[in-house]
Parts: sequence; structure tokens; C-alpha cells
Amino acid sequence: MVIVMAPTATDADTAAVVTRVQQIGGEAFVSHGESRTIVGLIGDAEQFEDLNIPGMSGVDHSVRVSTPFKLVAREHHPNRSTVWVGKPGRRVPIGPRTFTMIAGPCAVETHQQTLEAAEMAQRLGATMLRGGAYKPRTSPYAFQGLGRSGLEILADVSERTGLPVVTEVVRPADVEDVVEHADMLQVGTRNMANFSLLQEVGHAGKPVMLKRGMSATIEEWIMAAEYIAQRGNLEVVLCERGIRTFETATRNTLDVSAIPVAQGLSHLPIIVDPSHSGGHRQLVEPLSTAAIAAGADGLIIDVHPDPASALCDGPQALTSDDLDHLSVSVRRVREAMLRVPAEAEGGTGSDPRAEQASLGHA
Ligand code: PEP
Ligand code: MN
Repeated sequence: MVIVMAPTATDADTAAVVTRVQQIGGEAFVSHGESRTIVGLIGDAEQFEDLNIPGMSGVDHSVRVSTPFKLVAREHHPNRSTVWVGKPGRRVPIGPRTFTMIAGPCAVETHQQTLEAAEMAQRLGATMLRGGAYKPRTSPYAFQGLGRSGLEILADVSERTGLPVVTEVVRPADVEDVVEHADMLQVGTRNMANFSLLQEVGHAGKPVMLKRGMSATIEEWIMAAEYIAQRGNLEVVLCERGIRTFETATRNTLDVSAIPVAQGLSHLPIIVDPSHSGGHRQLVEPLSTAAIAAGADGLIIDVHPDPASALCDGPQALTSDDLDHLSVSVRRVREAMLRVPAEAEGGTGSDPRAEQASLGHA
């Protein structure tokens, strides 16, 4: 860990940091730079965290130098990555300088419902379709998804609309089937730490959207991405979907801070799910605009042609009437942040491929 002192820090401030570190058996090395003093710490980083050094007088900030993840770390890969999703000729980018909307039903229920939801997604400006065929439900009595026939519906709707599909995989044994039907695999919050599933999707050869575990720290989440990368799949998009807190007014608490923090630690793109965060359709717009303002690379949003009859997560699904309002708000904040909408290959949007090529990614 490195402690960066403020330009105004006194020698006594620096000495106090050194003493506090030495008191718990750590070593501290002071280097005086041109404008700042830096204190390098050697010892147990977890113990140093408990010392609350950033709160001490004269301290500007602390940096953990050796991150426990490597392949997905920004430290070793300063340019942020773009992940391309979809079949050749209509691949959609997710990454810096562009902005990708993904929308669709929480669960695939029928062909008609999925097609109508995909049309709603397009009205919202989405360039990708979401929809669950395998649903990881908290209650064993709740609708568990259509399984393989849901995958077939998604593949057909994708073909008709031209929207690449992201869908959840919950068991390692289903990865092959999901790869066959979908363009991107989703690992949900309940499976973020299912290491055998992470390793299996690491072999999938298709991009993965990794949702943050509802009780996972940002570091644990990025470590989960490292599992996928370690098996050879660097096409991973992080998705912040809210975490468990003491608050009960929302389904989860959207951790807006996770967006810049994860972007600082990892080169992977990060998108936000305002639907599963807030759990209410009226929260989708404020959480979406907050996410864009905080630098998110995209959004994944639940829509349903008839939320009252939805078999899963109806209260958070947008209705047809909500779409235009949200797309205007999103456009305005996106413009303020100078983020252009993601276009499929051949479109006129920004070209993150230039950066991608320089990173040596396909
Ligand atoms: C979903 O996106 O359908 C889903 C189940 O999300 P999460 O894993 O974030 O709860
Ligand atoms: Mn859901």
C-alpha cells in the first residue's frame, strides 16, 4: 500500500503515519517527491485498512499497489476494454466512448410476449435484447423459466429483430446450450461466486455479463471476473445491480460509487441494472440517469408488454407508456456526458475498435 500525502502535509503529519504503521508491526518508507511525500507500506494490507490512514491529518489518499487480480486489472492494462457482442456484421460494442442499452423481459414467458418486449426494447433505443430462460428464483415454488424452449424463443426473436441476446446461465451443464442460442451469457447475482460456473463460462468463447453478488465487495466481484479471464475469456462486462443494505424502501441499493471504483481497478466495461436495483418502475429513470452521470458504459432494463401479468419481476418492468420518457432522459444525460449510442457494426457511432485493435483483442 502507498500513502500519498497532501501537498500541504507537514513533517509531523508524515511522522504520525509512520508511527501508526509501526505500532502494528508494519514498515513505512518515506520518499520526498518534488511536490508530494509518499509513504510506502510493507506488511498486511488488510491490517493497514483498519488503521484508517486516509482519515489522518495531511493524508491525501491511499493506493493498494498489488491488486489480487491481474488479467482484468487496470494497473496492467491502462486502456479500458470494449467487448463486442453478436454475430459478425451486427456486433454491438460495450465499452468506453459509446453507450449501450440492453432491454427485454425479466423472463421469457411466451414467443409473443418476448417479441413484443423486444419491440419495446427497440423503441427505447436498445441495441441488445435481454430475457431469462433459466431463472434463479429465491423461492422453489416460483416460475423457474422455460429452459431450453425459452432459449429457442430468444434465438428466434433475435433473428427477427436483429438484436443480439444476453441470457442467464445458472448451471455449468447448461453453458453449451446457452452458447448455442445466445450471443452473451449472463451470470447472475446469486451465482457470482459459483466458481465452477465462472470457470465454465470462461471456456464458452462468448462474452459474459457478470452481475455483482448482492453482498459482494467490489474486489470480490472483480476477482470473480478474474476467474473467467483466467480460463481464457477476457470478454467480460461487469454489471452493478444493487447490493443488500439495511434499506427496505428499494429492492437493493444501487451502488453508484461502484462504477468509478470498478473502472479504476479494472479495464472491463461496466453497465448498470436500474431495474433490479430499485425494484420499482418509477425508480428506473432516476437510477438510469445517475448511472450514466457516474460513467456507466450502458444500462440493462426490464420491459414487459403487460407487467401486471408478468411471471417474474412485474413491478420493476417498464410499460409501453414509460419508454419515450426514459429514452429522452437517457439521451439528454448521455449527450451531457458526450456518450454516443452504441451502433451495431457498420453504423455511424464512435469506433471503439481503434482502441480494441491497439489492445490486441479480436
Ligand atoms: C435478471 O437479470 O434477470 C436477474 C435475475 O438479475 P440478478 O441476478 O441481478 O438478480
Ligand atoms: Mn428479474
